[in-house]
Amino acid sequence: QVRTRIAPSPTGDPHVGTAYIALFNRCFARQHGGEFILRIEDTDQTRSTARSEQDILQALRWLGLDWAEGPDNGGPHGPYRQSQRSDIYREHIQILLDKGHAFRCFCTAERLDAVRAEQMANKQTAGYDGHCLSLSDKEIANKLEARESHVIRMKVPQEGECVFHDRLRGEIRINWQQIDMQVLMKSDHLPTYHFANVVDDHLMEITHVIRGEEWINSTPKHILLYQHFGWQEPQFCHMPLLRNPDKSKLSKRKNPTSISYYQDMGYLSDAMVNYLGMMGWTMPDGREKFTLAEMESAFDIDRVSLGGPVFDVEKLNWLNGKYIRENLDTDTFAEAYSQWALADGKMTQIIPLIKDRVERFSDVVPLAGFFLSGLLPVHEQDFAHKQLSAEQCKHILQLYVWQLEQLTDWTRDDVERSAQQLAAFMGIKIRETLFPLFVAITGKAVSVSVIDAITILGLDVSRARIRHAVD
Ligand code: ATP
Ligand code: GLU
Repeated sequence: QVRTRIAPSPTGDPHVGTAYIALFNRCFARQHGGEFILRIEDTDQTRSTARSEQDILQALRWLGLDWAEGPDNGGPHGPYRQSQRSDIYREHIQILLDKGHAFRCFCTAERLDAVRAEQMANKQTAGYDGHCLSLSDKEIANKLEARESHVIRMKVPQEGECVFHDRLRGEIRINWQQIDMQVLMKSDHLPTYHFANVVDDHLMEITHVIRGEEWINSTPKHILLYQHFGWQEPQFCHMPLLRNPDKSKLSKRKNPTSISYYQDMGYLSDAMVNYLGMMGWTMPDGREKFTLAEMESAFDIDRVSLGGPVFDVEKLNWLNGKYIRENLDTDTFAEAYSQWALADGKMTQIIPLIKDRVERFSDVVPLAGFFLSGLLPVHEQDFAHKQLSAEQCKHILQLYVWQLEQLTDWTRDDVERSAQQLAAFMGIKIRETLFPLFVAITGKAVSVSVIDAITILGLDVSRARIRHAVD
């Protein structure tokens, strides 16, 4: 039975790239009568957060890309969160050690730095030099007894090449010399991505690994692990990465990349999935508007085109507009719109901010309409201020976005503190720091508290408005 998976790392916003890869995995599985599952790859404990995991699950659910097995609904191969599978990895690393395919490495960070510096000076490929491969059993036993900190690395052939087949790209050859003796288990006994990923794909009976092309260079390590364990390897299929309209790799510096942004801006999930389905793929009859079910039944992964698909917000706007015109009658429009406008208790957050200033309900839209808007028109003259030049205003905005991006929590206090810190850093009054924010976020020099507004609007929409005002 065909089994595919999406294996996101919960280290940030729910990326459109994750949704795109999930869509193709799901279509492939469905079209073969198989199963699509979700696994959370949270081995990077310092960067993984529960919030990010929740947001990723929520985003995929919103798009209708649900999964047969996962951390929320369980399944026969669980747990589906890598941080809960430590025993499994420990058991499996022992197998590799016993078979002589992995070795303990006691090198200190200083030694590794020195090796790297020398390799760089000699223009050699950077990588582990195999120092600990020559330790005798006795030396290893002594070091273990002395509880010396160590990692476990995989053995990699020193010559020849790894040849593997990619479903979309055919034969791929990579010299073993380019492949580092990868750390499989860190000194804290937690696995690295490569090790946990292979062990889990095998135990979760994944038959086809469909993922972004950035993983091609890691595939030799994965293939070697399958061989070391004596396991059947899955079929690999590396999808082209999404690109900005200028053809560079899609990045949040140029385009909103978070699914939450598109949800907050009022895109329809059906249009969003349809648009993601147009990334490197076309329906056999060339039609641009199609449902998830239609894509699933017509799907053929071998028709994916490798020329970098462009994620173009203008084109998405066009498609979303088409969905609104063609799929929503007055009643469904009204229902979908109010669901969006009232989502996540938006109104109950907004009302306390405006209530004291409202004399009649008809005052609400002029005061709070910006909460239900997308990007706001901002003109150079809007930045006219007694103390600040338009250029300074834009500088403040730019610096403030960077600060907001650093926040790990998103409370009113955090948002306010970052404005105070920026004012202190720039040596200006907090009121002056807030002025350009009022313009960019609320569209007016005076409005309800801009700190509250940013807190409610969230990072994605706030960032997009600030960027729009700066550009
Ligand atoms: P940005 O450049 O916007 O900061 P990023 O590359 O840092 O994005 P990550 O947080 O590393 O994004 O990636 C999150 C997930 O999204 C990963 O699974 C990654 O494979 C996927 N992803 C990131 N960029 C793309 C892309 N251009 N196309 C497809 N998938 C992508
Ligand atoms: N955790 C990896 C990611 O976030 C998974 C890559 C893979 O599919 O193997 O992209």
